[in-house]
Amino acid sequence: MIQHEEKGQCCGCTACAEVCPAHCISMSSDQEGFLYPATDTSRCLDCGLCEKVCPMDKPLDLGKEPLACYGAQAIDQDTRSHSSSGGIFPLLAREVIRDHGVVFGARFDKDFKVIHSYAEDEHGLTAFYGSKYAQSDIGNCYTEAETFLKNGREVLFSGTPCQIAGLNGYLRKEYPNLHTVSVVCHGAPSPLIWHDFLSYTLKKGKATAINMRSKVGGWRDYHLEITGPSGILYDKKAATVSYMKAFLSDLTLRPSCYSCPFRGNHGSDLILGDFWGGEAFHPDFVDDLGTSVVIVYSEQGLRLINSIDCSLQPTRYEYAIRGNPSMVHSNPAPTKRSQVFENYRKRGYASLERFFKPTFKSVLRSYLKRFKTYLIG
Ligand SMILES: Cc1cc2nc3c(=O)[nH]c(=O)nc-3n(C[C@H](O)[C@H](O)[C@H](O)COP(=O)(O)OP(=O)(O)OC[C@H]3O[C@@H](n4cnc5c(N)ncnc54)[C@H](O)[C@@H]3O)c2cc1C
Ligand code: SF4
Ligand code: SF4
Ligand code: SF4
Repeated sequence: MIQHEEKGQCCGCTACAEVCPAHCISMSSDQEGFLYPATDTSRCLDCGLCEKVCPMDKPLDLGKEPLACYGAQAIDQDTRSHSSSGGIFPLLAREVIRDHGVVFGARFDKDFKVIHSYAEDEHGLTAFYGSKYAQSDIGNCYTEAETFLKNGREVLFSGTPCQIAGLNGYLRKEYPNLHTVSVVCHGAPSPLIWHDFLSYTLKKGKATAINMRSKVGGWRDYHLEITGPSGILYDKKAATVSYMKAFLSDLTLRPSCYSCPFRGNHGSDLILGDFWGGEAFHPDFVDDLGTSVVIVYSEQGLRLINSIDCSLQPTRYEYAIRGNPSMVHSNPAPTKRSQVFENYRKRGYASLERFFKPTFKSVLRSYLKRFKTYLIG
């Protein structure tokens, strides 16, 4: 029976709950809003399957060197401008749908909770486009994917590296009709804080669409944009929004993200990320409409990336990592993380907003810094 002493030992993939033949594992949220398995021990058959499929305990020895590494951009400008980086995921997904396959990915549900689900047509795919910066709930997707695979359908499964490792653990078998694509993963923020941020920000307003990587200000200076029934309700540079500041400064990530074992090669055919800093190496290729970095780890991944309508710029793995250390490195939990969650328990989202409010001292410090720079020239 699965039991992890520390929260950091569970990434919340749900493979154990989905595989349990006695259905005695359920996933429930802790105080920080992350899902963990809870076992009804009275119904446990002691079969050990949950431990067998858990990806956290398995040392991954898959070889470090990728087969290839590219900067990549969808040729169709509309696809590129409506996705987070270079628009590569939408092209891969459409290719699989054209072959009558099924695509799994993360989308918002009607209350803007982030969940995983599947699509069998191009219209259904659109909900998966764009990054949603909160941990998604996998639900029954591993079981559903297995059914499609056993029926011989092509399946493209996308998600965070731990979700792909969880899928591979759950399946315990290689399927030639399975294609896996993961995102480079900085970490997954708390779904509870995401939910509270929306209530705090919208008050009584109703969202009809949310784009966490809007390119109105360009790819590098992306915005968080919330649309309501009669137009834009909220549009701010992501770097100025307290929710995104907390995410990017690692304050609200799942505990497992601070020592994530899935960075680098974790068993996906392809890894997609932003080619941050790519202009230093390929100034004629990287522009502000968005460029993806694509790391290829299998022959199948190589076939997939070569089958879509995109511009590819061969590059070096070291260049991809340079502007994107999340690919290979976990940041430790900030010392203020526990204090932030403690305050959050008492005062809710307002405490996070206050955490990032400039204080008299910080404003004075930045003023003095600027003044010093001015004096020195
Ligand atoms: C939580 C998170 C952290 C990330 N951190 C980094 C990073 O540090 N560095 C970096 O270069 N890139 C990071 N990315 C990836 C990046 O933001 C883009 O998603 C990626 O470059 C693909 O972009 P695209 O233009 O090809 O397609 P898009 O259309 O933008 O692709 C969206 C893809 O992301 C998946 N996805 C979206 N939200 C989630 C979610 N919550 N959980 C699981 N899968 C999701 C969808 O299923 C789909 O496969 C992160 C993405 C997420 C979701
Ligand atoms: S040991 Fe078997 S029955 Fe018991 S919780 Fe794990 S998977 Fe379920
Ligand atoms: S990492 Fe996944 S399989 Fe392991 S205990 Fe957590 S939810 Fe279960
Ligand atoms: S950082 Fe690692 S553990 Fe955290 S969500 Fe990403 S892949 Fe999963």
